[in-house]
Amino acid sequence: MSEDKVKEMAKLLLSGAVMLAEQCPVCGAPLFRLKDNTIKCPACGYTKAEKVEKKEREETKQKITVGTEKEILTKKLDLLLQNLERSQDVNEIKTILETIKVIHELLKET
Ligand SMILES: [Zn+2]
Repeated sequence: MSEDKVKEMAKLLLSGAVMLAEQCPVCGAPLFRLKDNTIKCPACGYTKAEKVEKKEREETKQKITVGTEKEILTKKLDLLLQNLERSQDVNEIKTILETIKVIHELLKET
């Protein structure tokens, strides 16, 4: 951590801010709660207004993650099928087929 960031943290503490056990979701530095209840990261400037809002954001984030995961899996599946078509190597074919099976299982779960 750079000296500037340590200074910024000290400044926050002196202004009555409280260091929280929670970490910044952006950079992992400890978060501070300011006098006006704003939660702020002194290292990267990340701020968070209220806990309720954060929960909503996390739920949204989770939905996005699931969608993306499915997208990624589908893309990989396409790629694997292309490789399977091209492949002449028995071991490679076996590996590809096993991987496809795993992806199918994962896609069923999402
Ligand atoms: Zn941060």
